Amino acid sequence: MARTVLVTGGNRGIGLAIARAFAAQGDRVAVTHRTGTAPEGLFGVVCDITDPTSVDSAFSKVEAELGPVEVLVANAGITDDTLLLRMTDDQFTRVVDTNLTGTFRCAKRASSKMLRAKWGRMIFISSVVGLYGSPGQVNYAASKAGLIGIARSITRELGSRNITANVVAPGFVETDMTADLSDDRKKAYREAIPLGRFATPDEVAEVVTWLAGDAAGYISGAVIPVDGGLGMGH
Ligand code: NDP
Repeated sequence: MARTVLVTGGNRGIGLAIARAFAAQGDRVAVTHRTGTAPEGLFGVVCDITDPTSVDSAFSKVEAELGPVEVLVANAGITDDTLLLRMTDDQFTRVVDTNLTGTFRCAKRASSKMLRAKWGRMIFISSVVGLYGSPGQVNYAASKAGLIGIARSITRELGSRNITANVVAPGFVETDMTADLSDDRKKAYREAIPLGRFATPDEVAEVVTWLAGDAAGYISGAVIPVDGGLGMGH
């Protein structure tokens, strides 16, 4: 059954792969993009998830065009790395406001229509870093760990209404976010990953579409790693 899906940050990287995977299985897909234009063939709405008014208006546009959002994929996220001693309040707050509070804003806006429909799927894109930690990423790790608390609380609040909330925790994925890593660091990371390589965005997208489907209807509050074994045991 075709669903209405909204992917935040769906104009590039992992979000675009997720949006294309839903579209390929026949769903009605909208993506948010903060900058630039919408990817070809997908319905795009401009949205900055740090701005509640922008989130509300993006959802309203999607509802008018494709119907209420039944599957929310909260994927938009940023990094701003530096060591703890050097991290400013602004660096911490900006990353948390985007990755964690931005996801809260989208989940809250999606929940009212999901409650009315008595059906909904929320999938939050976290990171192995939220479980495992990472030097220089206190802000990012805090924001990504927080998503687990959100998903589990939503599960307890809304689970009885057939609304599930799950977390996908990718390891290293080949996107713009990891493109700036030096060759030496990439090599070191590859050596630490049991599968010996970074993931492709499509490998994350496969798991997300599966989680939104009927086969995963009894899974909620789970953290699904897609990390080549990097975070095993965390
Ligand atoms: P990219 O940097 O390639 O893309 C980030 C996306 O988030 C872009 O679409 C960007 O929009 C959007 N975005 C950023 N800030 C905002 C904002 N304030 N409002 C709306 N949209 C915003 O990232 P990836 O595809 O690599 O990552 C996607 C998600 O996966 C992120 O949450 C990231 O933390 C997570 N992740 C990534 C990993 C990796 O190795 N790449 C590993 C683990 C998790 P715009 O194009 O307009 O800037």
